[in-house]
Amino acid sequence: MQELTATSSPLKTQEISAEEMKNFFMQAPAAMAIFSCPEFRYTSVNSFHEKLFGRKASELIGRTLREVWPVLDGQSVFEIFETVYKSGEPYRADEFPVRTQGKSGRTSYYNFILYPAKDETGKVINLMAHIYEVTAQVIANKRIQENNRQLNLAKEELEITFQNIPVGVYQFNNKGQIEYVNKKGAELMGFSSPEEFLKAPDMAQIKEYVDKKFILFDESGNETTTEKGSAFITFKTGKRAEALTRFLVKETGNSFWILSSSTPLYNEKGELSHILSIATDITRQKQAEQIIRESGERYKQLSVSIEDQVIQRTTDMLEIHNFLEQVIDASDDFVAVLDKGLRVITVNKKCEEVIKVESRNVAGKYIFDILHGGEGTAQHESMLKALEGETVRLEKTRSIASPEVFTDMYFIPLILKNKVEGVILLAKDVTDVVATGLELEKSNKQLNEAQQVAQLGSWEWDVVNDKLTWSQNMYHICGLNPDDGVDYEKFIFCVHPDDREMVEKHVLSSFEKKKFNDYYHRILTPSGEVKTLHGRGDVILNDEGIVIKMLGTGQEVTEERRVREKLIESNEVLEERNQFVEKLLDSSLDLITVVDKELRFIAVNKKAESIITAYYPGELIGRKITEVNPRLHETQYYEDLLKAFDGTVIIRDKEKSPMTDQYYEHNYVPLQNSSGEVYAVMTISHDITESVRQLEQLKKLAESDKLKSDFIKMASHELKTPVTSIKGYVQLLLSALHKNEEEKPLSPSLIKLSLVSIDKQISRLTRLLSELLDLSKIETGKLELNKEVFHLNELVIETVQDVLYSHTKHAINIFHDFGCNIYGDKDRIGQVLINLLTNAIKYSPDSDKVEVWIKQTEKGKVSISIKDFGIGISQKYHSKIFERFYRVEGKTEQTFPGFGIGLFLAKEIVEQHEGSISFTSKKNKGSEFTFTLPVASLD
Ligand code: ADP
Repeated sequence: MQELTATSSPLKTQEISAEEMKNFFMQAPAAMAIFSCPEFRYTSVNSFHEKLFGRKASELIGRTLREVWPVLDGQSVFEIFETVYKSGEPYRADEFPVRTQGKSGRTSYYNFILYPAKDETGKVINLMAHIYEVTAQVIANKRIQENNRQLNLAKEELEITFQNIPVGVYQFNNKGQIEYVNKKGAELMGFSSPEEFLKAPDMAQIKEYVDKKFILFDESGNETTTEKGSAFITFKTGKRAEALTRFLVKETGNSFWILSSSTPLYNEKGELSHILSIATDITRQKQAEQIIRESGERYKQLSVSIEDQVIQRTTDMLEIHNFLEQVIDASDDFVAVLDKGLRVITVNKKCEEVIKVESRNVAGKYIFDILHGGEGTAQHESMLKALEGETVRLEKTRSIASPEVFTDMYFIPLILKNKVEGVILLAKDVTDVVATGLELEKSNKQLNEAQQVAQLGSWEWDVVNDKLTWSQNMYHICGLNPDDGVDYEKFIFCVHPDDREMVEKHVLSSFEKKKFNDYYHRILTPSGEVKTLHGRGDVILNDEGIVIKMLGTGQEVTEERRVREKLIESNEVLEERNQFVEKLLDSSLDLITVVDKELRFIAVNKKAESIITAYYPGELIGRKITEVNPRLHETQYYEDLLKAFDGTVIIRDKEKSPMTDQYYEHNYVPLQNSSGEVYAVMTISHDITESVRQLEQLKKLAESDKLKSDFIKMASHELKTPVTSIKGYVQLLLSALHKNEEEKPLSPSLIKLSLVSIDKQISRLTRLLSELLDLSKIETGKLELNKEVFHLNELVIETVQDVLYSHTKHAINIFHDFGCNIYGDKDRIGQVLINLLTNAIKYSPDSDKVEVWIKQTEKGKVSISIKDFGIGISQKYHSKIFERFYRVEGKTEQTFPGFGIGLFLAKEIVEQHEGSISFTSKKNKGSEFTFTLPVASLD
């Protein structure tokens, strides 16, 4: 019992007497009741009890606990009473839950003591219950617990957030002791973890620790202490404080900047309760500031006074002089100095290399004695000009010394004391430039050709020097002469007046956005032609991000635009037409689909879509038809579709859909492109189900007409035979009777024979008539079933016995694999059995046995099979066998009497019993007819 509630327990041995206890209970300010044992009948209750449970004493006294509180059943209360009664030990429960109104009712909680009162012999005679309701406290406690749980959750979440933010968070109490620090906070102050930090909670301890690890500097670079830190200040002043401090790590010499801010928190009495500090590492920002400051310094240094520079420059010049000499030698250019008679004074190293003689060996020699064949050349002329005081430049001239070398040459008069005393020759090797120039020329030509083909011109605009350069073709496109050159104004003048504003805006925006966006504009050539250009370009910036150059291309797209506009126009017309066609297709009641060569849907009209999506809900366009319906393979439709791709129009009448019961007439129309190739096939499927059905019905009607007339023929024959036979016997008897009066009497055996024959014929007639009657009942829906529960196996046995009375040739064996009762019309089920049994006998003249099997086919179903070894039914008649009046046509079959009603009746009866009937049969091998019925109950 103890485990009923966690706080329940039997009280320890009682020293108090029962009487004392009773008094105590009655006076106690709590609900109290006394129960007599062993039935626990109320013998007394106090007023608290009446109030607590809302039941008058008079309603309770004399009744048992169970009678009064049936709701307590299953809540352990009765068991507790039993235990106390049997053990004689008192029982106490705290916060004991009791459902007051059944399972879904409210739960109340009680503290109670159940105390046993014993007689002198120690036998328990009464139980005293002392009960307090504590529901309110329990619920309040639960709420508190829940609130605490939520609070803890919130705290945990906050803690996680704090622990992970990249900012140090510290909380101090009003004594200046650290109470909380997050991970980053501990890390910033050099602690390995928050726990480590919290080990030394006092501000003095923190100061000691920080001083040991770091040297602190304030913003202006002076050494400072933790006491100037924001937390210390807030603690002292009780106000918000901020401090920016550089922490220099003693051990490594690295430093970082901390921006800290502290906020005082006050309690409701207005006393300082906590300080919350936040520290952010702003080293990166500080570094950035530093860089900016330093670059400012450099700028200042640059603007040292010009004067200083001039002084500096003069001293520099002297040095330069010496330096120059060295440079001349080191120069990659040819340098030679000649006197007035064009004799060599000096040549530099490079020159020595080219003319393959040392300077000292050529000094004093006439230049053209060294460079043979140079007299009379442009170089010679230039030298003479220079001797006259003119500086001459010869570009890209073949060197006389080595003709494979091209040079740019300067002929500078050597002036000493205002008189020309010689000539300085400076030649720069430009062979590479010339070579690349040739290449460039070549590629330029190609480019130009390419540009011409592409109707493309290129341009380059040196913004700084306001120099616009156009490629040949650009001029060509704009109808300008390349020799006239171009500038920005000329270009703008070229632009079609209506587009000028737009173009200027575009240029401006390229400057502002530092990006050249593609655009179209028109130009108006001098001959009055309007062309459309597609402008593309790029913007080139210097290191400071200022636009210094723009370059790009202008492509003439006049024709393209025209074609495009035309295309758009014709597309619109096409679109309109398409929409019209689409509407037309969609409104068609026929199913129209178009599939491409891969047999993927290209178009599906609404009607087709609604039919197809019933079994394939996905998007159809682009799907293969066999993906949509895998059953299409090997269908006529599939074959026809493939054939239509050969270009033949196919019309296929009366095709049954493989998916639905609909019949269609399919028209396959190959769609050809302009070159006559079939690129798709359109299938128009016209639903002809209705007409097919009507046709079928007509056919059926015709068939049933034939059946009927056959039936009448047969029935009249069948009726006539017994009637004729009866008539024969009756006449025989009558004539015998008449004769009897005059001649000798008719023998009794003959009378008997005649009567037996008449009886036989009459029962044949009766059977025929009753079958006809049943048939008409079924047709008019009046075949009523008198259902009852009966034992199926017994019915089978009885029926077989009945059949055996009149059919003695065959042995009928019954195999009971399963036994059960059926709820149904016993006579009608018997009739089914008779029909099947007599058929089995009738259609197996050369065999002498029939088997009947009773089996369970699936749970709740019983099957009865009648198996014969007779003439069987050939496959082609299988589908018709259950039809009304149907009889298999054939020489053998016609010899058996019957009306073709038996199986029809059997099927109707079985189906009206929620059963089914089927058969298997092979010509000349025998047949097995099986019908199943729902089982009502087992044996
Ligand atoms: P019928 O009165 O002609 O027997 P049924 O409706 O009982 O009419 O049967 C319809 C036809 O099915 C029969 O005419 C016969 O050709 C064929 N049939 C029925 N049962 C068998 C069977 N057990 N073996 C061969 N043929 C059968």
